[in-house]
Amino acid sequence: MFDVNVNVKARMLTQTRAAMTSLPTDALAQPVQTPKRDQTPLSGLNYPLQEQLPELGSALELAPGVFWLRMGLPFALNHINLWLLRDRLPHPSQPDVWQEGWTAVDCGVDNPATRRAWEQIEQNVLQGLPILRVLATHMHPDHMGLAHWLCERWQAPLWMSTSEYQSALLACHGLSNFGGDPTVRFFNAHGWKKAEDLAVVKSRMGYYPSMVPKVPAAHVRLMSGMQIRIGERLWQCISGYGHSPEHMALLDDTQQLMISGDMLLPSISTNVSVYAMEPDGNPLQHFLDSLDKMQQLPDSTLVMPSHGRPFQGAAARIAQLRSHHVERLEELVIACSTQALCAHDVLPLIFKRALDVHQTTFAMGEAVAHLNLLWLSGRLSREQDAAGTYRFKTLAPQSSAKPTGD
Ligand SMILES: [Zn+2]
Repeated sequence: MFDVNVNVKARMLTQTRAAMTSLPTDALAQPVQTPKRDQTPLSGLNYPLQEQLPELGSALELAPGVFWLRMGLPFALNHINLWLLRDRLPHPSQPDVWQEGWTAVDCGVDNPATRRAWEQIEQNVLQGLPILRVLATHMHPDHMGLAHWLCERWQAPLWMSTSEYQSALLACHGLSNFGGDPTVRFFNAHGWKKAEDLAVVKSRMGYYPSMVPKVPAAHVRLMSGMQIRIGERLWQCISGYGHSPEHMALLDDTQQLMISGDMLLPSISTNVSVYAMEPDGNPLQHFLDSLDKMQQLPDSTLVMPSHGRPFQGAAARIAQLRSHHVERLEELVIACSTQALCAHDVLPLIFKRALDVHQTTFAMGEAVAHLNLLWLSGRLSREQDAAGTYRFKTLAPQSSAKPTGD
């Protein structure tokens, strides 16, 4: 048995600035996120809980009624943070009767180990109360996998944005960006030509359904700016783009808490990829624009991310992420100034180690995201060569001097 730790808040108040984060660098190891090896620590982030983590099957209370759970993932990124929020809602069939219970935020992948972990949570943390609703920040398998199971188990509705919900439904039926012919054609057009690699990509149609076998039949729609009362707290939805179709973070600004999902992570950079379904998309610009909404948060806001540890210092972290991407973009402008390059050509520049096929799929998406931003902002040209491959070339800066006409 594990005990719920209710003393963390007091501990948070007494602990001083602890381990700092590291600038994301060059590694890709799993499908949803981009784990990065540690480098020189950077200042600006504070981890109030220091090294403390909730054990599997237990929870840490970060603020009254806000609990942190941590579950395993079968990736190089080996964990996800989930959140349990104390809630009370009118009984569905007796509106005058209030039901005490919980809102679960994000779910973990569907596998036996995660189901067991939830059963432990039920015994050790829920205090005999039901889960009244399940809220998913976005459709990626580590967040969405067990939504169907939790919703059925507790007869609870699923709350998420409609774009995420519909994308999950499609992906669950094999219509995703993880594999299949359109994805192969997309990578081919960006210079990934090796037939045996592309055969592996083609066969990945079952990747998403292997972790999200079902999606609940209905959802309650979350929209940007919407306020949701969960127990004693009022949470505001903050939409985020570039990582997934319409990600929702949750902000309790009176208590300075933010459930950031995958939009703001302390020590790894959020995966931002172009996919076959929107090949001319500009997700990196959308991602950077989305971070603007979090830029003004007070430094004392406790950011509760889906991976890594809760931290304070949102603005500092956003500044690190921006400089990381700007650095990559400038490297690409220089590389494309001497010859026209395709996305596959620039992989070694962005990811400075060998990548397997699985990692290459995500590296390619990220490389195209950077190239598309430069192309769409007029810094690179894009042309298809005779083999149908998109090649990017640096454009000369526009002169601000007006022609004299002489
Ligand atoms: Zn994600």
